[in-house]
Amino acid sequence: MSTSLELYEPVVGERVIRQLRQLSEGLRGLKILHVNSTRSGGGVAEILDRFIPLQKELGMDVRWEVVEGEEDFYKCTKAFHNSLQGSPVEIPEAHIRAYEEANARTAERLGPVLEEADFVFIHDPQPAPLLNLCSQRKGKWIWRCHIDVSRPYRPTWKYLRKFVEAYDASIFSLPDFAQALPHPQYIIPPSIDPLSTKNMELDEDEVQAVYGRFGLDEKRPLILQVSRFDRFKDPIGVIRAYRLAKNFVPLQLVLAGGGAADDPEGTAVLQEVRTAAKDDPDIHILDLPPDAHRIINALQRAADLVLQKSIKEGFGLVVTEAMWKGKPVIGGDVGGIRLQVINHHTGFLVGTPEGAALRIRYLLHHRDRLEEMGRKAKDLVRESFLLTRHLREYLTLMVALTHGSDERIELG
Ligand code: UDP
Repeated sequence: MSTSLELYEPVVGERVIRQLRQLSEGLRGLKILHVNSTRSGGGVAEILDRFIPLQKELGMDVRWEVVEGEEDFYKCTKAFHNSLQGSPVEIPEAHIRAYEEANARTAERLGPVLEEADFVFIHDPQPAPLLNLCSQRKGKWIWRCHIDVSRPYRPTWKYLRKFVEAYDASIFSLPDFAQALPHPQYIIPPSIDPLSTKNMELDEDEVQAVYGRFGLDEKRPLILQVSRFDRFKDPIGVIRAYRLAKNFVPLQLVLAGGGAADDPEGTAVLQEVRTAAKDDPDIHILDLPPDAHRIINALQRAADLVLQKSIKEGFGLVVTEAMWKGKPVIGGDVGGIRLQVINHHTGFLVGTPEGAALRIRYLLHHRDRLEEMGRKAKDLVRESFLLTRHLREYLTLMVALTHGSDERIELG
């Protein structure tokens, strides 16, 4: 019976899989722990959900734990998120206390799991204090930052930095996000899993079925943005772009989103989006459950083109997902979107709703260009943003950290 890694061979080739097995030889049996703040919703959970089974298959003993807290903890971590991405947010002392207490409780609950792990990957700021709370650590601790910290609000970074400094290494998605830190920093962009329910091939019938299911018109072009309802994703800017473009082309817009368990602002933003849409029957706001992967897959395939008009973006897995489905993306000229949307080749980078509207019109009027850009988009994802490349870079990082300052590392 074929193992799941082998299922990736037809997509990425046999050599890539062989290389993963070779790199993991010296890591077999090691205890790896990932800690983040939610099991569903948002890009980090999406990645871990697919990443961990493959690490296990490569022989590592992998665990996924979550730091949990009360309402004030999530308010605090959302404020961290917003301020690390540049918003000047003052965080009340009580929220900081809730953050530190939630981490203290998690450290106590996990006790030996933290102490005995060979590698601990701490994702984002939510669980960052765990290292300082683990007095007898054995392994290497790595802080993995998924957000756009190119211009953080300084007081927040100053507070968090004191936790992050103690780590053995950190990982950022882009060179622009790297910080002055006293340890090695690795640049590793995220990835998507081509075999997940979110990204696998679907029958044409299933793709077409979304039109009926959500009351969409098969005869008019469909533009789509999939995102948590978060102001950094600029859903209101998307509605403005749609309205401007609609003056010239018949159009319908789907804004598909849902909440993440660790995001307390989603409901308010969803309400703002509903108000902005008024009662336009061609704006479809879909508040989807966290497991709606197949529906999102079908919507991304059904759309003529995809928007991701973020004003800050750590990476933007939704961009990768759409590109993998052969769609050009009109994306905000920020963060990880810049890595994926090669302007005029795999999509367009835009700074304003007016710019987005112009590009929507252009692509819908030049179908040959739209298709050509979609093909290039898929090729770029195959080359650079699939799970296997991501896994290889993590394995390489672990091999490097295991060997410290050895001059030669023999693989396999
Ligand atoms: N997503 C989802 N349902 C939603 C909204 C988003 O499953 O209602 C998924 C989306 O397909 C992607 C991830 O959540 O895989 C979002 O990752 P991204 O990096 O784009 O943004 P983040 O939410 O991490 O800021």
